[in-house]
Order: sequence, then C-alpha cells, then structure tokens
Amino acid sequence: MVMACGTRKNAEKMKVENHSYSNYKEVSVSHLNLSLKVDFNKKELWGTSTLTIKNNSGANKLILDTRTLKVDHVAITDADGKSKEVTFEMGATDSILGAALIIPIEKNTTSVSVAYHTLPESEALQWLSPEQTHDKKNPFLFSQSQAILARTWIPLQDCPAVRFTYEAKVEVPPHLMALMSAENPSAKSKDGKYNFRQTKPIPSYLMALAVGDVEFKSLGRNSGVYAEPGMLAKSVNEFVDMQSMIDSAEALYGPYAWGRYDVLVLPPSFPFGGMENPCLTFATPTIIAGDRSLVSLIAHELAHSWSGNLVTNETWSDFWLNEGFTVYFEQRIMEKIYGRDYAEMLTALGRGELQHSLDDLMKEAPDDTKLYLNLDGRNPDDGVTDIAYEKGRFFLRSIEEVVGRTEWDAFLRSYFSTHAFGTTNTKNFIAYLNEKLLSKNPEWNKAVNTDEWIFKTGLPANCPVVNSKELQRVEEAVAKFEKSRKVADIQTKGYTTHHWLHLLRNLKSLKQEEMAAMDKEFKLTGIGNSEIACDWYRLSVENGYEAAYSEMEKFLNSVGRRKFLLPIYKALLKTPEGKKRAEAIFKSAEKGYHAVAAGTIRDMLKEAK
Ligand SMILES: [Zn+2]
Repeated sequence: MVMACGTRKNAEKMKVENHSYSNYKEVSVSHLNLSLKVDFNKKELWGTSTLTIKNNSGANKLILDTRTLKVDHVAITDADGKSKEVTFEMGATDSILGAALIIPIEKNTTSVSVAYHTLPESEALQWLSPEQTHDKKNPFLFSQSQAILARTWIPLQDCPAVRFTYEAKVEVPPHLMALMSAENPSAKSKDGKYNFRQTKPIPSYLMALAVGDVEFKSLGRNSGVYAEPGMLAKSVNEFVDMQSMIDSAEALYGPYAWGRYDVLVLPPSFPFGGMENPCLTFATPTIIAGDRSLVSLIAHELAHSWSGNLVTNETWSDFWLNEGFTVYFEQRIMEKIYGRDYAEMLTALGRGELQHSLDDLMKEAPDDTKLYLNLDGRNPDDGVTDIAYEKGRFFLRSIEEVVGRTEWDAFLRSYFSTHAFGTTNTKNFIAYLNEKLLSKNPEWNKAVNTDEWIFKTGLPANCPVVNSKELQRVEEAVAKFEKSRKVADIQTKGYTTHHWLHLLRNLKSLKQEEMAAMDKEFKLTGIGNSEIACDWYRLSVENGYEAAYSEMEKFLNSVGRRKFLLPIYKALLKTPEGKKRAEAIFKSAEKGYHAVAAGTIRDMLKEAK
C-alpha cells in the first residue's frame, strides 16, 4: 500500500457544534479499536485508532477531532473487508478546539483507521519522571480527557453526545502496568503487553490510560485499589468502606452497571480530586488523610457511575446535569453510611463554598451563575465551578424538600434506568421532571421554581437552608475566641477535617501572635492533611504570617491538585509582594503541575495587576 499524505486546509472555516468539529449527526462512531505503544523516552504514544462507523446519511466524509497530534496515514475499509489508503485533510487549528481531521469515505465504508502519534505537549497526558512519583523509582503516565482533551491523544468524535464501546492493545515497558477505563489486569504482564475491553458504550471524555509501577489489592466483592507499592497499604486502609459505598449506592438508585469499581491512587501532580473513569476512578493521593475523613471523594466518583457515566450531559452547557446530580448522590451515599449529622456537615460546607463562588461570580460574570451555561466559543473548562456542582446539588435538594424523599428517589431511579447509556440535556430533563414528577401535584411546580434555578443568575429564595449542629459547635468556638482572643477558647476535641476547615474559614483578621499561638497549639504549619494545609496557608497569607511560608512553598511544590493551589495563589496575588512570591513559586513548581492546573495559574498571574 502507498502511504497517502495529508494536506492542510486553512481557508474554509469549519462548523463547530458542541465543542466538536465532528459530523456525528451524519456519521457516528460505534466502536473504537485502539492499538498503542507507550514511549516514555519521547513522551509520545504511537499507534492506530480504528473506528467502526455508521453512515446514516450517506455522507462522503468523516470528520474527527484532533489537537496537537500528528496523523501519519489513514485507511478506510468496506463491508467486504477491503482496505485502501485515502488522502486526508487537516482543518485550521483553533487554540481550544484543535484541528478537524477530514477523511473521505464511501457509501459502503464500515471502518476508518488512523495511524498517528501524540506529541509531548499533548494536554491530556502527563508524563512524570520517577522523582515526581511517590516511590521515586519509575516513570508514570496518566491521562485526563475531560472535558475536550481526549482529542489530544486519540483522533475521535470528541463530544459527549457520542457513545462507543472500545477495545485496546497497549504496549508499555515490561516492568510497568497499564490500566484503562475498562476491564483491567490485576497483575503485571511479563512482556508489557496488555489487552482491554470496554463493552459498555461511553463518551470520549471517559477514555483513560495510566501506566506505572502499580500493584492491586482487592477490597471486596467487586472493588479494589491500585497504587504504587509504597502507597498501597495506606490506600487500602483509607478505602475500607468502599464496598459498602457501592452497596449503598445500588440500594439508592439501582444496579451498578459497570462490573468492577476500582480506584487508582495517582502520584500527587494529578490536577483534580478524582476522575470518574468507568471501572477505574483516578484519585489524588491527597485524600489519603490517614483517618478516612476525605473519602466523600470516593462516594462522589462512584456516584458518577450513574450521573455522568450512565446518563451523560449532551453538551458541556448541560454540565450541571452531570455534577449537580453527582454531588447530590454523593451526599446521599455519605448519609447512608455515616449518618445524617455527618452528611449535613458536608452539605453545609458545600453551601459555604457556593456562597463564596456566587459572591465572586456575581461581580465578575453573573451569567456564569446560571445552571445552564452559554459556552459558545469558550473553553468548556470555564463551566467547572461550584455553580454546576453546588448550585446544581441545592436545586435537586430543593426538589427533594418539596416532593419528599419517597417520590424523589422513585423519580431518580426511573430517570437513571430510562436514560441509561444515553445522553440528556437541560430541556429534556425539565420536560421529564415536569411529566413524571411535578405534574402530580399543582403546588409542586410553583414551589420548585425550576426556571429560576436553571436560567436565572444567583440563588433563588427557596434555596434549602442547612443547619449543621457540628459546624455550629465550631461557630460557637469562633465567637468565644473573638471575644477573648485566647486560643485556649477553641476546643478542638473530636474535630474532623471538616470541623477544621470550618474553623479556618471563619477566623478573620488575626494578629501575628494569634497566628503563632494557634500554630503552636494545633501544629498546623507542615500538617500532612492537604485540605487543612490549604486553608491554613491561605489564612497565613491573608494575615501575613511569614513563619508558615517555607512549608507553604513546599506544599505548592509537591501538590498539583487545582483545588488546593488556586486559593493560595489567589490570596498571594492580592498584594504586590505576594504576587512576586507567587511568581517565584510558580516558576519552580510549574514543571510538576499538570497542564490543566498550570494553565489556570498562568492566567491568574497574567490577570493580576
Ligand atoms: Zn464530579
């Protein structure tokens, strides 16, 4: 066969719908067969992506999404199994969307094969040197495809409205294990070759790959954990409740659809808390607090096995359907296992975070406080805020309060089973909600106030009020301290991570000696719990407590989770000296951050005066 070469097309402006160049409404991909070789030296993946297509409309081309990847050649195959090389075209490059890959197809074309390699700058892939891992012996690779980064490592229809099954062959250095969002091995292969199969149709943002020196340990019937050998025992200890979380979730909203549920504990540079890759959640090691106090993150990622993975948002503007449902569901799992008081404490903290985001957004971009977002021409990552997560959750909770739990839970069970392995959007959800639930009682529709929640800015007056006895205890301690200014008046016996966070968020305008006394009493500078560390360092910057700065710099150099980085950088950027410090820290820490986290901080540094 002759290698056909691609031509670059610059003149024609391509139509972009749903953050994807793909013509998925005309030609849809139903299955992906991936073959990849992982090259740690070049920091590149080399291989072939073969897509089974359904040409519903008789279209003469298949358009795929790509970004920073090099297409080497393309072949098409017909129903009789005959293959031939074709000449493909690349569209103009857009900095957010990448470039369209335009492949000529024929009426009887059944599959398209793209030979390609990624480039070291592929944003979905983070290549870690041994020093950047926990055990510091072997390199590590992990992917993060959400929202539209799958196209930086696989040419496909990168759009949540398209679902496909997949199989993959992945070759890695023999001493490492490869894992995907699919059926996974539980031990290393001798030759570094692995085969994967995902028999349930998934959207592209759930494509995932990790390669590293990891080991597996079972946690129960259908759950287990993968981690670097030095992190495995700690991780197993932290996740003892995982199997009962799965059982509780199934009791709430129906059978778990994905076979196994395992968690991979990643090295610290992972930019998110967790990513709900099907069958295998990717998780930050910062949730391994030693006291199981941060496992709500696992409940969250597990809940995505229903909201998001099973029922998917059709566009990124509908993202709240994904995250709002998940935060609500997460809370219900936590309540079932740890009781109402504990779950209400988490909900109250979420309410505080929502208020904080609303206060900022109402000044800067009020339209971004609507649940349904207009993301035309924008990066879908702009929609990843507390609005989708927390405002979404409080909307669903307000429905629960109006209609009562029995009706609401029955509605959710039918919502998940009716839409399983499909997509939905805001308009369809509202219609379904009205038809199946709110129309049952004329009072409900008015009381729920759906339109204001979804299409208006800010927070409706019927937002549920959360009272947490546990957090009130903290507020009383703060009030006592504000009068006496004595640290001894803050009684922290029985505090969990969440009590600490509430305390640190409620203390305002502290003097140097008060910060020092608190540090001496509670040993906060250098603390191993990242949640508490983040709030303590933010407070230290806000109150100019320099004794904490060197540990804070270590923290910013060792942790890559965006949730912890942003509040501290943001606090630093409020003063000119702080800005200088932030720039210096970023310069040394940047190489350890994931592109997603580094990009956000780079923008913050640029925007700061
Ligand atoms: Zn989530």
